[in-house]
Amino acid sequence: MMRLPPFTYVAARTLAEATAALAEHGHAAMLVAGGTDLYPNMKRRQFEPRVLVGLRGIRELSGVRGSAREGVTLGAGTTLSTVAAHREIATHYPALATAAGLVSSPQLRAMGTIGGNVCVDTRCNYYNQTYQWRRSIGFCLKKDGDICLVAPKSPRCWAVSSTDTAPVVIALGGTLRLIGPNGERTIPAQQLYHDDGIKYLAKDPREILCQIHLPPADGWRATYWKLRRRGSFDFPILGVAAALKQATDGTVEDARIVLGAVYPTPVVVEQAKMLVGRRLTPELIEAVALSASGPAKPLDNTDLSMWYRKRMSRVYIGRALRELAGLPPAPGA
Ligand SMILES: Cc1cc2nc3c(=O)[nH]c(=O)nc-3n(C[C@H](O)[C@H](O)[C@H](O)COP(=O)(O)OP(=O)(O)OC[C@H]3O[C@@H](n4cnc5c(N)ncnc54)[C@H](O)[C@@H]3O)c2cc1C
Ligand code: SF4
Repeated sequence: MMRLPPFTYVAARTLAEATAALAEHGHAAMLVAGGTDLYPNMKRRQFEPRVLVGLRGIRELSGVRGSAREGVTLGAGTTLSTVAAHREIATHYPALATAAGLVSSPQLRAMGTIGGNVCVDTRCNYYNQTYQWRRSIGFCLKKDGDICLVAPKSPRCWAVSSTDTAPVVIALGGTLRLIGPNGERTIPAQQLYHDDGIKYLAKDPREILCQIHLPPADGWRATYWKLRRRGSFDFPILGVAAALKQATDGTVEDARIVLGAVYPTPVVVEQAKMLVGRRLTPELIEAVALSASGPAKPLDNTDLSMWYRKRMSRVYIGRALRELAGLPPAPGA
C-alpha cells in the first residue's frame, strides 16, 4: 500500500487565511482542493509538501453565478460533478459540461474541482509511476533525476498537459481571476500555461485561482471530443475543443480550436481562422482538420502510440467541426 508522507493540513476558511498560510510556509506549502490528483502524486513522492493549505472550507470559492446572457462565473472550488450537471452550463456552455463530465470517474468528479482540474499536473509515462518504479530507471528531470527519458538530449521536460476542462475554457474565451501576494489579477485562460512540463503554470505558486469567468454565450456554440483508452476513467491522450460563431446564413464569423494532451500546454490552433467568412462544408472541414492537426506534436510519453494520436488529431478535429455543422461523422473517420 502506498502511504501519504507526513504533512500539516491548514484548513483555510477565507482567501486571506489561505494566502497568509502560503506566504508563511513558502515553498514548503502547496494548495489542495479535492486532492484527487495531488494526494496520489504525494503517495508516489512526486510532491513532498510539508504543509497543505486546504481550499475546501472557503465558501467564496464554490458555486456558479450569472447567466449565459451576462456571462457565468464558476468558483474554482466548484466540483466537476456540479459543473457537469449545472443547468445554465449544460444548456448554454454544453462543451464545458461535457468536458467536466468526462474527467476520471463519478467518485473523483464528486471530490475534484474545476480549479484543480485547470491547474492539474502534467503527465508522462516515466513520471506517473511509483517511487520504486521511478528509482529503478534512475528517475527523470521532472522529479529526482537529471535527464528527460523521453528526449534525453533535451534540456527540458515534455510532460503533457492533461486537463480536460482547460481547452474548453480557452475555446470559450474564458478568463481566470487569481489572488496572490501582490494582489489580484485577471488573465485570459491560455495565459495560465507555461511551455515547460515541470513549471507548467505561469503563476506564482502563492497565487490562488479563485474564479473562472465565461463570457456571454452570445451565439457561440462549442463541443469537446476526448480520446482515451478506457472511457470509464482515463486521462485524455487527446482533447479537442472547438467553438464557432455563425451568422444566420451559416457563414462562420469566428472560430477557435484548442487541443489538449498533445503538448505541455493546451494548444490554441491558429488554423481555426481558416473557417472565418466561409460556410461549413465537408471539404472545408476536412481541409481545416488536416491543417489544424499540424500543431499537435505528441511524443512517446503517454498511452497509445504517438503516430496514432497524431493521426487522431485530424480525425477528432474533423468530428468536432462536423458535429457543430450538424453533419454525421465522415465515412471511415
Ligand atoms: C484515476 C484518475 C483518473 C483521472 N482522470 C482524469 C481525467 O480524465 N481528466 C482530467 O482532467 N483529470 C483526471 N484526473 C485528475 C484529477 O482527478 C482531476 O484533474 C481533478 O479535477 C483535480 O481536481 P482536484 O480539486 O482534486 O485537484 P487537487 O488534486 O486538489 O489539485 C491539483 C493541483 O491543482 C492545484 N490547485 C488546486 N486548486 C487550486 C486553486 N484553486 N488555485 C491554484 N492551484 C490549485 C493543487 O495545488 C495541485 O497542484 C484523474 C485522477 C485520477 C486519480
Ligand atoms: S517528459 Fe521527460 S522529464 Fe518530463 S516527465 Fe517525461 S521523462 Fe520526465
